[in-house]
Amino acid sequence: MGFFDDLKETAKSEMDGVKKNVRAVQLQSELHDLKREELGIYAAIGRLAVAAEGMEKFGDAGVKLFDVQERIRAKAAELSAVKGLQDVKICPNCGTEIIGDMNFCGNCGTKLAE
Ligand SMILES: [Zn+2]
Repeated sequence: MGFFDDLKETAKSEMDGVKKNVRAVQLQSELHDLKREELGIYAAIGRLAVAAEGMEKFGDAGVKLFDVQERIRAKAAELSAVKGLQDVKICPNCGTEIIGDMNFCGNCGTKLAE
């Protein structure tokens, strides 16, 4: 092969390398999006399961969930107080009082109207 053929080969394999890198970045991004979607589906299933079974059926995970929801309620209440707001909603499903700008009921997971 002559000099220009070698040059063409080098350029082609560099181009292939660039294409692979671009594809790898694209695949990483698609994988990331799919894993986020998967996480969202698990969360939705978890909400349904907790609503159906109650947190106490889920052992340590249920205890942690209860604890984190308590902390969310406390922070939301503190935030409302700091902002001087009295933004209180009542969950249409279970009647729990929800303080702050929560999108879901902390007790039953029902999506709340804006
Ligand atoms: Zn509720």
